[in-house]
Amino acid sequence: MILELRDICKDYIQGKMTVPVLKNVCFEMEEGEYVAIMGPSGSGKTTLMNIIGCLDQATSGSFLLDGEDIGSMNDNQMSEIRLHKIGFVFQSFQLLPRQSALENVMLPLSYAKVPKKERRERAVEALERVGLGERIDFKPTQLSGGQKQRVAIARAIVNRPKILLADEPTGALDSRSGEQVMELFHSLNEEGVSILMITHDADIASCAQRQVIIRDGILRQGGKEG
Ligand code: ADP
Ligand code: MG
Repeated sequence: MILELRDICKDYIQGKMTVPVLKNVCFEMEEGEYVAIMGPSGSGKTTLMNIIGCLDQATSGSFLLDGEDIGSMNDNQMSEIRLHKIGFVFQSFQLLPRQSALENVMLPLSYAKVPKKERRERAVEALERVGLGERIDFKPTQLSGGQKQRVAIARAIVNRPKILLADEPTGALDSRSGEQVMELFHSLNEEGVSILMITHDADIASCAQRQVIIRDGILRQGGKEG
């Protein structure tokens, strides 16, 4: 099992009020699965993704990633998990604007203290993998939206993560570029990468093997209430 969430609750404190945002979310994902989370704006999708991505902790409940109990970890341990097990793709790409595609993709490898020569080789390989072998020296401003997202995907996979987390990965793209991103996700999944993707586009969600719905902080998976 790559993900096991049991009764995950997340509350935000607003003034004197406690606002429950995730309500007893139970969710499991097998290694190698490709799952889409759908739900309206404000339903808690990003909050859930931030917990699964080890960027934030739940208020209560238990969460195992690749068998490891994240709930008991400190910030340093969580950043190690992020670095070695998780790749992130965001709607807004989140590339460093002044760095080339190659430098953006090499960045996680320098955090992981991979030797310099190997960093470059692996980053080039990742960029070739996403069809951008000819664009490695281009800066984000010199790339289209679809190309920027493919650089972001190269950066997400360069550390060979167990799971790829994508929050509205096609939200800022035209439909053709969105299709290319979906083709890439499909082939990465065929190679064994688990993928969890947030979207509110039903066509994009149908690219995944399984769809779950979150509404008002309550997740429903496979017909049973979470
Ligand atoms: P989605 O990604 O599905 O649009 P979010 O997870 O971003 O939804 O937000 C879910 C709810 O939690 C919203 O009502 C939002 O206002 C609230 N929320 C999100 N982040 C915070 C925060 N840091 N503090 C207070 N409330 C928050
Ligand atoms: Mg969101």
